[in-house]
Amino acid sequence: LLSATGLQKSFGSNMVLRSIDLTVCRGEVVALVGPSGSGKTTVLRSLNGLEVPDGGTVAFAGGPSVNFGGTVSGRELSALRDHSAMVFQQYNLFPHRTVLENVIEGPVQVQRRRRAEAVQDAEKLLDRVGLLEKKDQYPFELSGGQQQRVGIVRALALRPDLLLFDEPTSALDPELVGEVLKVIKDLAEEDWTMVIVTHELAFAREVADEVVFMDGGVVVERGHPDQVLRNPEHERTRRFVQRLL
Ligand code: ATP
Repeated sequence: LLSATGLQKSFGSNMVLRSIDLTVCRGEVVALVGPSGSGKTTVLRSLNGLEVPDGGTVAFAGGPSVNFGGTVSGRELSALRDHSAMVFQQYNLFPHRTVLENVIEGPVQVQRRRRAEAVQDAEKLLDRVGLLEKKDQYPFELSGGQQQRVGIVRALALRPDLLLFDEPTSALDPELVGEVLKVIKDLAEEDWTMVIVTHELAFAREVADEVVFMDGGVVVERGHPDQVLRNPEHERTRRFVQRLL
């Protein structure tokens, strides 16, 4: 479904991505793991053009293909964005809009879908994650776990080919993490294609088809979760996994 090759990115003199390749097949769940500052979030944001890499390409099968080596137009970036939806660490809900308004914003304003249809779709999705009765409430009236479930519904409402999760549970109190991971796990079982940046290695082991371990802007090791997380080849991966599992 998606192929990224040779992604490079520097912030000033800080070279954050050195040359990252990533392939995601349809229906696959890829977990991006690694120490803080290793560049995971930057990779994720590059996949949908929220971050513009200095070099490399991002291509969707049968869809847009963007080469970041040259000048990249706004139109190319929005073509990438049309194919994926991001779930953010801090939920990023509009504080002055209700849950329902948050969910239908993208479909109505960006995708120009009919409001009635978007509302119906949103209500179905909210019901799925147990939040239909909260549809007229505001984000501040919800717990962090509920807000993040709305964040996930908002992404689903765009009907993207690819879901991108940026540390979706790391802002949550520990007792609220489970309810969000459960929703993501259900999506994995429904064959959604997802790239998940996470520090929850036990979760990654459970849901991911492939784990990609990054450190210092490179992919150190990738493969089946049992291999990378239980029996890593590289010393750097081993040290990281031992600390967290
Ligand atoms: P974490 O797990 O802490 O979120 P990460 O692996 O996701 O880390 P990134 O968020 O991709 O890492 O950041 C990699 C490096 O890039 C860090 O050193 C960070 O400070 C730097 N960085 C990220 N975004 C910017 C930016 N907009 N401007 C300057 N530096 C940035």
